[in-house]
Amino acid sequence: MRLRFAPSPTGTLHLGNARTALFNFLAARREGGTFVIRIEDTDRVRSDPRHEAALLADLAWLGLDWQEGPDRGGDFAPYRQSERQAFYADALNRLRELDCVYPCFCTDEELARDQAEQRRRRQNPRYVGRCARLAPVESARRLRAGEPAAWRWRVPPLGSLGWNDLVYGPQHQEMVNLGDFVVCRRDGQAGFLLSNIVDDCAMRITHVLRGADHLSNTGRQLLMARALALTPPAYGHLPLLVNRGGTPLAKRTGATGLGALAEAGYLPGAVRNYLARLGHVYAQDELLDLETLAGGFDWTAINRSSAILDPIQLDHWQHLALRALDDAAYDRWASQALGPEAPPGLPALVRDNVRNHADLVEWRERLAGRRLPSAAAQETLRVLDARLREYGVVHAGEGTLADFLAGLRTHHPSAFPSRQVYPALRAILTGSLEGPELARIWDWLGPERRRLAFRSIRAAPVPPAPPEAVPPGCPSGQPSG
Ligand code: GLU
Repeated sequence: MRLRFAPSPTGTLHLGNARTALFNFLAARREGGTFVIRIEDTDRVRSDPRHEAALLADLAWLGLDWQEGPDRGGDFAPYRQSERQAFYADALNRLRELDCVYPCFCTDEELARDQAEQRRRRQNPRYVGRCARLAPVESARRLRAGEPAAWRWRVPPLGSLGWNDLVYGPQHQEMVNLGDFVVCRRDGQAGFLLSNIVDDCAMRITHVLRGADHLSNTGRQLLMARALALTPPAYGHLPLLVNRGGTPLAKRTGATGLGALAEAGYLPGAVRNYLARLGHVYAQDELLDLETLAGGFDWTAINRSSAILDPIQLDHWQHLALRALDDAAYDRWASQALGPEAPPGLPALVRDNVRNHADLVEWRERLAGRRLPSAAAQETLRVLDARLREYGVVHAGEGTLADFLAGLRTHHPSAFPSRQVYPALRAILTGSLEGPELARIWDWLGPERRRLAFRSIRAAPVPPAPPEAVPPGCPSGQPSG
């Protein structure tokens, strides 16, 4: 089996294309097949070598290892479409000989006018066939005169096409709905439909998993493969990924890029487990390594409805991936966010409470820096029993949390039930009602920070806390009174 991922280097790798890459990789890996990377850089204007380098770096980060590609060659090199023009020119010549294509001299303005008219009549936009009706001598004369022409497929008016989609099952397209599509553009550049099928066949690709946005291209590409007597791959189309609101995910609408996730501290193992389950189910719900993900991959089990991108799920896998790190690896991960100056012990303290680097920075600010209490903590502080504050200012520097609570209860018998005193202490010490076990926070803060936290409460009117006020749990600031 030979599978490929064929990105266009026109932007960053978003989660949608990363999932496509992963699925092709897993399918190849499962069968001991070959995974190929081909760069589809025929759009000269939008393609950029920097995007190509970033795409390859993102794929490598995700742990997808390819056996053939632009950076490492292979039996079917080159792996960049911009370097494969001769293949497309050959194919076009052959199609001209077979009379499958005809030159189309229509200008962009004419085509735009046709489309506007079709929209007005509520018809599907498709080529009106103006140049299909030109007499061959007339076309030949215009070509000889050097008039720029695209080449269009002459789709027969009758008949239909079918294939068995690996994901969607039997598919059927009527010729009449295909329209005379462009095979080669006016600028001489092979169109996507031609270069893509020519390369898949030349590179002996056996299976293609690609986005369902390509479903409508597949019939046209099978038609071309048949005419050129090429063996096409088997196609499987992946339902699109949508955001929670149901809107499709597009490169240019700021969809989450893989690079941005890596920068935010997400681990490749978390992203892999998340993507592998977008529209595909695994029997095991623990964090799986790449080999196990490949072993359990089954394209016949891919769900046919759109998969919803859910950041909560991503955080779930990240939680498991962080947990799976050994202490040294976790410390390295934390120091990427906090730098070498991380307060000692802080990353370990909050290990179960962070999902990404921003969470770590937030905890550092809560416990060892300046940060306003959360809204919920402010509310708790607003109704804080003054006796707790007073007791803390005097005694927070002493002993363990258990000692403190025992003393508090001796001092104010039955005034402080646990369900009230714990959130209050969290709010005072951390400015948050959530977080690590309170006794561990207590110990980590140490006497000085705890005392300051209690004093800051008295100093800072809450709520609303003015921006310049020293929030509770921020002992590095100067209490103002
Ligand atoms: N370059 C195409 C894309 O990025 C590849 C489509 C395909 O996989 O066939 O959508």
